[in-house]
Amino acid sequence: QKPVPSDIVISRSCTPKPVDRLAREIGLLTDEVELYGKTKAKVQLHAIKRLQAQPDGKYVVVTGITPTPLGEGKSTTTVGLVQALGAHLKLNVFACVRQPSQGPTFGIKGGAAGGGYSQVIPMEEFNLHLTGDIHAITAANNLVAAAIDARMFHEATQSDKALFNRLVPLSAGQRNFSPIQLSRLKKLGIEKSDPSTLTEEEVTRFVRLDMDPDSITWQRVMDTNDRFLRKITIGQSATEKGFARTTQFDISVASEIMAVLALTSGLEDMRQRLAKMVVACSRSGDPVTAEDLGVSGALTVLMRDAIKPNLMQTLEGTPVFVHAGPFANIAHGNSSILADKIALKLVGPEGFVVTEAGFGADIGMEKFFNIKCRYSGLRPHVVVLVATVRALKMHGGGPTVTAGQPLTKEYTEENLELLEKGCSNLRKQVDNARTFGVPVVVAVNAFKTDTDAELDLVCSLAKTAGAFDAVRCSHWAEGGAGAVALGQAVQKAADAPSDFKFLYDVELPIVDKIRIIAQKIYGADDVELLPEAKHKVELYTKQGFGNLPICMAKTHLSLSHDPEKKGVPTGFVLPIRDIRASVGAGFLFPLVGTMSTMPGLPTRPCFSARSEAVFG
Ligand code: ADP
Repeated sequence: QKPVPSDIVISRSCTPKPVDRLAREIGLLTDEVELYGKTKAKVQLHAIKRLQAQPDGKYVVVTGITPTPLGEGKSTTTVGLVQALGAHLKLNVFACVRQPSQGPTFGIKGGAAGGGYSQVIPMEEFNLHLTGDIHAITAANNLVAAAIDARMFHEATQSDKALFNRLVPLSAGQRNFSPIQLSRLKKLGIEKSDPSTLTEEEVTRFVRLDMDPDSITWQRVMDTNDRFLRKITIGQSATEKGFARTTQFDISVASEIMAVLALTSGLEDMRQRLAKMVVACSRSGDPVTAEDLGVSGALTVLMRDAIKPNLMQTLEGTPVFVHAGPFANIAHGNSSILADKIALKLVGPEGFVVTEAGFGADIGMEKFFNIKCRYSGLRPHVVVLVATVRALKMHGGGPTVTAGQPLTKEYTEENLELLEKGCSNLRKQVDNARTFGVPVVVAVNAFKTDTDAELDLVCSLAKTAGAFDAVRCSHWAEGGAGAVALGQAVQKAADAPSDFKFLYDVELPIVDKIRIIAQKIYGADDVELLPEAKHKVELYTKQGFGNLPICMAKTHLSLSHDPEKKGVPTGFVLPIRDIRASVGAGFLFPLVGTMSTMPGLPTRPCFSARSEAVFG
């Protein structure tokens, strides 16, 4: 077998076709495409309206077994599969993937364009900046953060009357409420449009959001793994008159605004979701929203280009949407509904859209079904579950796999015993996928050290576990040609009967929904709510948010909450430390164990260890 050059060498050896030509080839009209240079374009949302009557294509979600920290090839398989279906089996295809965060790109994992001969190109454009969507999210998120602290400061230092005079300005001798202020008045039950008729008590209620600083759940964000921002003190300048408080930065992709972008169905829906985002509670316990701060219009303007999916291509010239990039462990881990919807129309009824859900099936796929599909109304035809011999050996008891360290002989030499033992994780994840009633095809992503006997063993155990089919694939080394068998298996599975169902009814009490996920998907005996989580259950139920779906923030490195527990852990109780609400995005997220929303850099980060992979 010829050695496979590095990802950047492969990426640069291929000249992408001009993106305007790609757009024409896939049936987009000139006025639906906004070019960002020669290799990227944004697609206008009105394309959906034009294509309304067109039946959707087949919808495929790619997920995986519980991975090693290196990743087991979901992005690579997503790209390899569309290259096989499009360039080799001659079907209309689209891949829909997440935009990578600069955190992992420069941190432990590196970029996310796929790998080997299955990549989205050009790699640097894909991994860094793209068309600025994450920057727009950072800007919008931090505008909300600034608005919160400034508002608390102004409320604390001004009288009701002074606040009113500043909030409701005089225009041409007349005071006017803005539309956002009118909607706040309505929320307060004050049905008045003439500012001069407000009583003193109504003025006080109108101008004072009266946020409790201890209840603020909105954090500042940036897209860098900067661990020293996990806990900070703000407001230490003398100009802030002692209004200092402790807060934190999260990574940008954990911002609720990222989740809103991924789950929205259009511009007006995005405006409404941004308006509904709860940032704190008032001292009397009422939720304070972005709309109450008067910032939701500005957020919509900041996000108005980010809402349009980004068009790129694979090494074999098939189209890709790169849009939205929430992490799967601390957020919901799926690319945008809008990109999937446009792609499904563009490929037509015989075509395939392959979308990727982050990390293992217990995380990204569970959220794909219970959150993304619930909001989109879309139903997938096939689940592709990616497995590797190396991760399965780790689940069978192999030594810890660490980024940047060479693999030990358990991984580089044939070891059927370890592999068979580790297939327990594959069996559980196949089961998890089948719980949703959709056929599962296992893709065994072959590495050059894997032996025939090992690859055959995984395929046969996957079929015994209930997979519709299981095939080995070599798209990393061979491009789409190496995933033709996978493509054919997916085609067959898409025609097989399926019986999609959600895992839980959203109307169930919050704790019941968490327990169902913990027991049915993770294999926990039960859940244990720590005091903060119990308090939030009561609070959110009282505030009327109890019927939102659940987005578990859990480690991706184990089915349990303990990243060290491999295989299929049993006999554990899942600790729920706290629960947060993303009311605008539309989910509650329980924090399982200790999950950091701001990753750190390792001793030898990708920016030094693999700088050639980023900069070339
Ligand atoms: P995931 O999406 O599951 O996190 P990726 O597709 O990003 O995983 O792959 C992780 C890394 O492993 C990438 O650097 C990719 O190039 C590499 N990789 C994937 N498949 C193979 C393979 N079959 N052989 C060698 N390297 C691979």
